[in-house]
Amino acid sequence: MQLKDKVAYITGSASGIGKEIAILFAQEGAKIIIADLNKEAADATAAELKATGAQAIGVGVDVTNEDQVNASVEEGAAAFGGIDILISNAGIQIVHPVEEFSFADWKKMLAIHLDGAFLTTKACLKHMYAQGRGGSVIYMGSVHSKEASLLKAPYVTAKHGLIGLAKTVAKEGAKHGVRANVICPGFVRTPLVEKQIPEQAKTLGITEQEVIKNVMLKETVDGEFTTTEDVARVALLFAGFPTNALTGQSLVVSHGWFMQ
Ligand code: NAD
Repeated sequence: MQLKDKVAYITGSASGIGKEIAILFAQEGAKIIIADLNKEAADATAAELKATGAQAIGVGVDVTNEDQVNASVEEGAAAFGGIDILISNAGIQIVHPVEEFSFADWKKMLAIHLDGAFLTTKACLKHMYAQGRGGSVIYMGSVHSKEASLLKAPYVTAKHGLIGLAKTVAKEGAKHGVRANVICPGFVRTPLVEKQIPEQAKTLGITEQEVIKNVMLKETVDGEFTTTEDVARVALLFAGFPTNALTGQSLVVSHGWFMQ
C-alpha cells in the first residue's frame, strides 16, 4: 500500500497506459480520478476499479480546454479531499512527413501534449501547494522525449518539451515538497500504437510486420514491446518516492531502445 489514501488525477486513463497506472495505483491504496475525453469509458473504468473495492470516479475532460480541466480537477478534489498525484498522460499520435503536415494537425498535437500538461499541472499544483502535504507530478513522455523518428515532428517536439516543463515544475515545486518527473516508454501495444502500424506501413511502403520489426522494435535489445505494466511500475516509483531527491528526472523504459 505505497499510495494509501493519496488522490491521483490521471488523464487519458480510460485506455492503455493510463488505465494500467490507474489499476496499479488503486491496488496501492490510492483514490483515482479517471479523467478522459471519453466520459463513457472513464465511467466504465471507474466502475471496474470500484468493483475491486477501490475508490474511483470518472470525469469527462478535454485536456486542451482550460475550463474543463479546472472543473474536472475541482470535481475530483472535492470528491476525495485534494490532489496528491497528477499523471499527465492523455495523448494521441498523428504521423506525416514534415512537408505534408497540416498546420492544424501540428497545433492539435501540441495542444493535447503540451497545453494539456500545462493546464492540468496548473490546476493540480494549486491544490498540492495549498494542502501542504507535497505531491508528485508525472508526465508521460516517450523515447521520443530524447530521440527522433521519421514522420513524428510534433510528437517528438512536444515530448521533448515535457522534459523542460518537468524540470521547471521540479524547481518551483521543491519548497512545497512537489516533485516532477517524466516517464519515457518505448513502444507499448495500446490502441495508439495499433493505429500507427498500418499507417506507417502505408507511408513507408513496407509491411505491418516490417514496421514492428524494422521500425518500432529495431533498436531494442531483445525485439520486445514495453508493456503497460512496465510503465505503471515506473509511475509507482515516481509517485511513491518520499523526498525531493528524485525530481526533475526522465526515466526511459524501452527494452534498451534508447540508452543514456
Ligand atoms: P491510448 O490511445 O490507449 O489512450 C489515450 C487516452 O487518452 C484515451 O483514453 C483517449 O480517450 C485519451 N485522450 C485523447 N485525447 C484526449 C484529450 N484531448 N483529453 C483527454 N483525454 C484524451 O494511448 P496510450 O498508448 O495509452 O498513450 C498514453 C500516453 O503514453 C500518451 O501520452 C502517449 O504519447 C504516451 N506513450 C505511448 C507509447 C506507446 O507506445 N503506446 C509510448 C510512449 C509514450
